[in-house]
Amino acid sequence: MYAARVCKDCGADCVFFCETCGKDLCSVHKGVHMVDLDNANHFVILYRERNGYFIKDEYCEKHPELACKLWCDSCDEPFCDECWKEKKKDHEKHAMMEVFEAYKKYKEEFKPKIAQLRSEVLPYNRAILAGIEPDIPECEAQIAELKEKMRDKAERLKKYIDKCVKKKCPKRLKRLENKIIGQLNQQCIDLQEHIDYLRELVYRYEHSANKPAEFLLFLKDHPLDKVPDIPESCKELPEMTFNTEVTKEDVLKLLGEITVEETGIRKPEYRFTLERLRVVKYLGTVPVTGVKSACHMSCKSATEFWISDKVNLVLIDQTGKKLSDVKDKLDKECGVHAVTKDGDLIYIDKKSNIRKLLKDKKDKPSTLINSKESWETLSVFCSFESDDILVGMIIHNINRAMVVRYSSDGKEKHFIECEHYTTPLFVTENHNQDVVVSNHDRNSSSVVVTNGGGEYRFSFNGPPKEPGFKPRSICVDGLSNILVYDDNSKSIVMIDVDGHYLEIFQVQQNLIQSPRCVSYSIDNHTVFVYSSSNSHVVVSRHINRQEYLGKPTIDPDADKKKKKKN
Ligand SMILES: [Zn+2]
Ligand SMILES: [Zn+2]
Ligand SMILES: [Zn+2]
Ligand SMILES: [Zn+2]
Repeated sequence: MYAARVCKDCGADCVFFCETCGKDLCSVHKGVHMVDLDNANHFVILYRERNGYFIKDEYCEKHPELACKLWCDSCDEPFCDECWKEKKKDHEKHAMMEVFEAYKKYKEEFKPKIAQLRSEVLPYNRAILAGIEPDIPECEAQIAELKEKMRDKAERLKKYIDKCVKKKCPKRLKRLENKIIGQLNQQCIDLQEHIDYLRELVYRYEHSANKPAEFLLFLKDHPLDKVPDIPESCKELPEMTFNTEVTKEDVLKLLGEITVEETGIRKPEYRFTLERLRVVKYLGTVPVTGVKSACHMSCKSATEFWISDKVNLVLIDQTGKKLSDVKDKLDKECGVHAVTKDGDLIYIDKKSNIRKLLKDKKDKPSTLINSKESWETLSVFCSFESDDILVGMIIHNINRAMVVRYSSDGKEKHFIECEHYTTPLFVTENHNQDVVVSNHDRNSSSVVVTNGGGEYRFSFNGPPKEPGFKPRSICVDGLSNILVYDDNSKSIVMIDVDGHYLEIFQVQQNLIQSPRCVSYSIDNHTVFVYSSSNSHVVVSRHINRQEYLGKPTIDPDADKKKKKKN
């Protein structure tokens, strides 16, 4: 009997087949299958191609009775037998192959690219798309705010104008009036003096005959041909005008321009890509060798992590194999190592120097930041977003604790000195750039969070009704929740980005036994918890990508429906 293949998830017609896990899938659940982080490496094909390709002949345009079976890979051109006879000469020494061979070659070649498009790029774009919609009300809100500000400014402008008309303008006009009247008065004085002078000249001239020498000397001092007719200051009353015109543009100019600044390419927000699972999913257990009672872990990738005890620092893969170790011995049980975005290791050596071990140069660490005499560096972290290095330290000579931010090449950028730090044992950064510190204090230990600029945000003092909180190893998940190991309750405590207690992190029925440290891989959103009792790392996932990211936005059956209608 013929049994139709159906989708394992919904019973609809099976269209696709997962080569990796053998699952039959409909168009919708193919997408869902691809966004599930568990299946990140699975490859899905059309169901009918499960047992090989079913190739139809494609016929030549010029010779419709002949199939194109030959392909020139140098010119990207197909040929039927007849075309080939005609054009053979032009393709001598070219890479010729069967069309089907070329098809298989390129299909295989682009398989990884298609896998990446399907499982990463497509969901990424959908998440970005989801982020655009909320931007519309956001934009409207911004415009409304601008409107309010403009109205406010216009109101102030009106007040200023009234003030000007009432006070400033009359004052200004009065000043002008006084100035011109002053000039007119001066003209009168000048003119009066000039008239007196002219009369003097005329008088001297008339009475010169009895004293000719004196007259000649007078002429020398007062050359008559250079006497001006009227004083220079005697000008006509100036014409006073005022531009009475006002345009809308003038008013707009007064209100000022609106500046629109570009802010870069969109990135999807995690709230549109990820969701918390109702049940934490157990993914596996990794036996750990090379360290005893580890206290800190840094994920290098989804499958490899650095783990340290007080002395040793080793790199372990998902099978438990020790891949590498650091020859320097450590001497602190705190967050002394971290992994950069590129996968290099950063760690604090015995002398409080920050050293870097490149992922490929396995045995030669270099010093990135030299310790100063009074420093005691305790913890280090590399930012996912900026690649900056955060270092938690105590500076003994001034008796202060702080977190210093360095650029990836070790240049100091700024420091956060928060009164709530006394001993920053572990440090990490959240996706909103908050700096998150596990702080040890003789009186009350807490998780202390400042924003990226160093302003204090909150402290978390432990799960409710559980006094004696001792935060240690700390990390953040893809949804910006904070996971911290509490050495008092011997459990992993989960709090949200604003410091609200969520729950104790546990996998199935207490798979996590006597945990000691926790780490998170952002690559595939897995949580690594080290248990000291059996020296194992339990790998689990409490976050997955949202299903909608894989669902086709266009109904895949729409075409068929259309055809049926016709
Ligand atoms: Zn289905
Ligand atoms: Zn699969
Ligand atoms: Zn042809
Ligand atoms: Zn050719």
